Amino acid sequence: MADHDFDLFVIGGGSGGVRAARIAAGHGARVALAEADRFGGTCVIRGCVPKKLLVYASRFADDFADAAGFGWTIEQPRFDWASLIEAKDREIARLEGIYRSNLVNAGVTVFSERAEIAAPDAVRLARSGRQIKAAKILIATGGTPFVDDDFSGRDLVITSNEAFDLPHLPERIVIVGGGYIAIEFAGIFAGLGVDTTIVYRGDKILRGFDEDLRDALTEAYQKRGIRIVTDTTIASVKKSPNGLAVELGNGAMLDADQVMMATGRRPNVAGLGLVSHGVTCGWNGHVVVDDEFRTNVPGIFAVGDVTDRPALTPVAIRDGHAFADREFGGKERDIDYEMVPTAVFSTPEIGTVGWPEHLAAERARQLDVYISRFRTMRATLGGRDERTLMKLVVDRQTDRLLGCHILGPDAAEIVQMAAIAMRMNVTKSQFDRTMPLHPSAAEELVTMRTKRTEVAKAAE
Ligand code: FAD
Ligand code: NDP
Repeated sequence: MADHDFDLFVIGGGSGGVRAARIAAGHGARVALAEADRFGGTCVIRGCVPKKLLVYASRFADDFADAAGFGWTIEQPRFDWASLIEAKDREIARLEGIYRSNLVNAGVTVFSERAEIAAPDAVRLARSGRQIKAAKILIATGGTPFVDDDFSGRDLVITSNEAFDLPHLPERIVIVGGGYIAIEFAGIFAGLGVDTTIVYRGDKILRGFDEDLRDALTEAYQKRGIRIVTDTTIASVKKSPNGLAVELGNGAMLDADQVMMATGRRPNVAGLGLVSHGVTCGWNGHVVVDDEFRTNVPGIFAVGDVTDRPALTPVAIRDGHAFADREFGGKERDIDYEMVPTAVFSTPEIGTVGWPEHLAAERARQLDVYISRFRTMRATLGGRDERTLMKLVVDRQTDRLLGCHILGPDAAEIVQMAAIAMRMNVTKSQFDRTMPLHPSAAEELVTMRTKRTEVAKAAE
């Protein structure tokens, strides 16, 4: 290693890259990291963190509306987008500073510029042209929103990247897509008073999630005034005297002030030099890695959204940590991608862990399904006509909990806790033996007694 400048060069200062760099440095490795944009990456700068701040902002609308039922009189609340964005930017700048200083304090040499692979053991910095030799290279360049370049009106639409910094809150927005980002931003904009339409090519939003969750959120969004146009997508966007004219594939026209494409993300691999150095990429452009984060080229590794692992911050962080422990600390870390809890920060919120019923049915011979739909205590006086949904999917033979799916306030918080038990192979009877915490919504999970009579057909 003596002829190398560093033991490890990390390309990308997001969730996965920063964790890997810090842990490797902690194990005594000489580490460098290059970040082309802002330290912290997608999650901190244009993902989870600013998104959740906007979600909080949008939910005050419910608080104001429900407050009257609890005796409060609130005169005409007013919302100022510019103040929210300014406050959000301050917080993001603070976090970015922490990410950078944590790296420096850990002894990592940081470069604020783009990097590309120059050889299996060398990286070239794009601005300075400097070439740096490293025994190992970690690709942690994440992903980026995908919009087809040929889309007619490409220059007129935004993605989640721009949605965080709009100069004005639009009056009307059309959001294309039915996945996490489309659904979360629809909730944000609608909560802030924007006339919101989702256009989704499938028949029901949130493909892959449990059917009952999909139905319940569809109903809740429609009640909240969010239009959901299914089975079509947009054909073009043009400027019009009225703002933007959105033409749908089914011929219908919509007027909007803003169109946001949330049609998925692609691995950030452009210009990295992967092809010229023979690094194998998969169908979606992702870097193909084995269980130990190795690419097919010795010395080059990858973690996070640039691979095909679940595109979630905790997964990128765990992968980065495991990579550094294994390569520089001599420690093995076993990562379980099966019981990964996840949330969709819609309003109402989704929290889910384990198998949706239709997938559980493929794995267990027989299922028992427990579903509860109820109004929260707050909704009674608040007057909100919205139901919380809680669903448990149980393997009848083993009594093991295979899925826990919640739509309602604090679903993410509740599911994080349920995930611990499920990771330990908890059974339904063990849930039932747990004393309820009253009055809470989560107590419903340990008091469900009635099985739903019809369940998805289990595999024979
Ligand atoms: P990133 O965080 O994307 O970091 C990659 C970094 O590499 C970037 O900073 C980029 O600038 C840099 N880079 C790229 N190319 C180069 C180069 N050639 N040289 C130098 N630097 C380079 N996940 C959750 O778990 N919960 C959520 O609530 C959630 N919300 C999200 C909301 C939105 C709107 C989005 C877009 C994503 C959200 N995610 C969420 C997903 C999460 O942000 C990602 O899974 C996570 O950030 C992936 O981390 P990463 O390290 O792989 O990549
Ligand atoms: P998703 O894969 O969740 O959703 C993409 C949506 O776009 C799907 O509804 C898909 O339809 C649709 N779509 C894809 N291509 C086209 C097309 N050509 N025309 C029309 N519609 C199209 O991706 P997102 O961008 O929403 O999010 C990316 C990832 O980031 C997520 O998968 C998740 O891992 C992560 N994330 C996590 C969050 C969280 O944890 N709360 C929040 C935000 C992002 P179809 O379903 O038919 O394929």
